[in-house]
Amino acid sequence: MAGLARASCEREATGSGLKPLDVDEFRATAHRMVDFIADYYRDIETFPVRSQVKPGYLKQLLPETAPEDPEGLDDVLTDVQCNIIPGLTHWQSPNFFAYFPSNSSTAGFLGEMLSGGLNVNGFSWINSPAATELEVIVLDWLGKLLKLPEEFLSSGEGGGVIQGTASEAVLVSILAAKNHVLEMSLKKGLSKWSILSTLTVYTSDQAHSSVEKACTIAGIDPQNLRVLPANGSTNYALPPEIFSKALADDVAAGLLPFFLCATVGTTSSTAVDPILALGTIAKEYGLWFHVDAAYAGSACICPEYRHHLDGVELADSFSMNAHKWLLTNFECAALWVKNSNLLVTALSTQAEYLRNKASEMRMVVDFKDWQIPLGRRFRSLKLWMILRLYGASGLRAYIRNHIEIAKHLEDLIRADDRFEILAPRTFALVCFRLKPLVGDLDNGYRSNAELQEAVNSSGSIFFTHTVLSGVYTLRIAVGAPLTEMRHVDKAWEVIKEHAESLQLKR
Ligand SMILES: *Cc1c(COP(=O)(O)O)cnc(C)c1O
Repeated sequence: MAGLARASCEREATGSGLKPLDVDEFRATAHRMVDFIADYYRDIETFPVRSQVKPGYLKQLLPETAPEDPEGLDDVLTDVQCNIIPGLTHWQSPNFFAYFPSNSSTAGFLGEMLSGGLNVNGFSWINSPAATELEVIVLDWLGKLLKLPEEFLSSGEGGGVIQGTASEAVLVSILAAKNHVLEMSLKKGLSKWSILSTLTVYTSDQAHSSVEKACTIAGIDPQNLRVLPANGSTNYALPPEIFSKALADDVAAGLLPFFLCATVGTTSSTAVDPILALGTIAKEYGLWFHVDAAYAGSACICPEYRHHLDGVELADSFSMNAHKWLLTNFECAALWVKNSNLLVTALSTQAEYLRNKASEMRMVVDFKDWQIPLGRRFRSLKLWMILRLYGASGLRAYIRNHIEIAKHLEDLIRADDRFEILAPRTFALVCFRLKPLVGDLDNGYRSNAELQEAVNSSGSIFFTHTVLSGVYTLRIAVGAPLTEMRHVDKAWEVIKEHAESLQLKR
């Protein structure tokens, strides 16, 4: 399959029909698929980073109905090359700086391949004991790399579980917290309905949108979601005084505060909430304390960044996405809880068709009771692969290299007085903008949006934006596995060139 990038887009019907799982066919076709993917990575820098297609492009290219007779793998791969790849934004491109990274790696892919290849469904221990037990073990391993307190490990009441995404991690945490507070209140003789309308959640306006979505799904009254202001004066971290004032006001108003979500590494600017101070207040009021470190959690395996998690010992749940910046192919969101019984009480189901001796004897973990769906993939294989094939030292070096590259970009930006940095660079995200041009009446909003669009539509790099304190802010997130110093140097040249031509047009 070498040279697929140059393959012709003509198709010929060559199918003779694959058998469902014939070993020889499996071996041959899977080898070809690996070659196809390897060629994709070989050629990845030749594609525009952000897909340039228009909405609905694919409908024009594919038939309206599924084929009646089998087609050949060659034809399908030709379609992938000619029709699907142009519709991809290349997240693994070294020139991808948008959002946060969503890493793949050789080890991550090998784990993914093994997981997909074995394709067991490990919702209960009995369904594949290894799937459950390996997950328990690798989340203990990762928890120890993060120096999480003992209570989050499987030796006691706590433990880790792999969720699909950070959004699911915060949702199941809210559901466990809500169930717990309801049970406690019922014991005090209060009625369920009177409590439900008083349940109150706290987070900052820099927290991820998944917190609000989790509240919606969990049935929290939208009026009882406190999205507290975290502005530029604290570098977008939530001030503890604002949290404690909101709590006191709500308690005085007869509400029942029950959940706080703090963020280590916010999505807009990687701000770090003061989790020790916030957690201390949350504990005084008996709240469930969730710490979302979806992006920045990966950096905390390095001792020099671990201090950002000081205070996590006060948390009830903590999550980070290994699929963002820790080389683990999507998806793999790790969630640790201190008291897994509270998750299980909230989420367990006892259908007759799922009953088995190991579960009834309470000798095992059944991860179906720690998550929303029943079925689950054997995702710990990916994490196990990356932890073993890169080792903690390899992973730390990987993170540190990206942070060095981001620092270098920050220096380049600071050295150019047409630009300015808009938030501290704590990890590998740089927030900046082109200073407002002469004649800008909107504080640089349009000129920066135009600059961004001009660069992105050139296809040479892809980056996204946010708004901080009302200011249009460009974000460059370094963290794709192939990114090197030279890619960032080139990115900076491209941004400067487009900024110059924008200035000339004025
Ligand atoms: C990316 C991100 C999320 C959401 O991640 P998903 O896994 O896609 O749900 C949540 N919180 C923070 C801080 C993030 O950066």
